[in-house]
Amino acid sequence: MSKMLHILIAEDDVLSQELIRGYLQSYGECVTVDDGESAIREFENAFKSGKPFDLVCMDIMMPNIDGIEAVTTMRDMEKDFGVDPGNEVQIIMITAIGDSKTIMDSFYKHGVNSYIVKPLIKEKLDDEIKRLGLI
Ligand SMILES: [Mg+2]
Repeated sequence: MSKMLHILIAEDDVLSQELIRGYLQSYGECVTVDDGESAIREFENAFKSGKPFDLVCMDIMMPNIDGIEAVTTMRDMEKDFGVDPGNEVQIIMITAIGDSKTIMDSFYKHGVNSYIVKPLIKEKLDDEIKRLGLI
């Protein structure tokens, strides 16, 4: 039995949010938010309360702060908090945006660990979570 994961789902589309939560709820505790600003706040609160997230599923197109800016902020916060290399949260982008520049920048400039272009299916999500060593 793998450990229960602490999972943050940032997705502004209600149906997509419910889909992702449905796919992931058996793996642990899911927190859902619908914009990047709330995602950053939850991320910071979880860290400061000693229960950081293991996995973040991040949409890109969201109101207030988008997913790219949110993950960039999270990686900066981890540096500020002194998170050891290798202990950073695993971030999966789950988005309708599928152009190669956005995908490459997400990996190499913004520090995401995985990138899934919608439509999302459970098998793909499970494959990525396994590849990241979370299950
Ligand atoms: Mg969106």
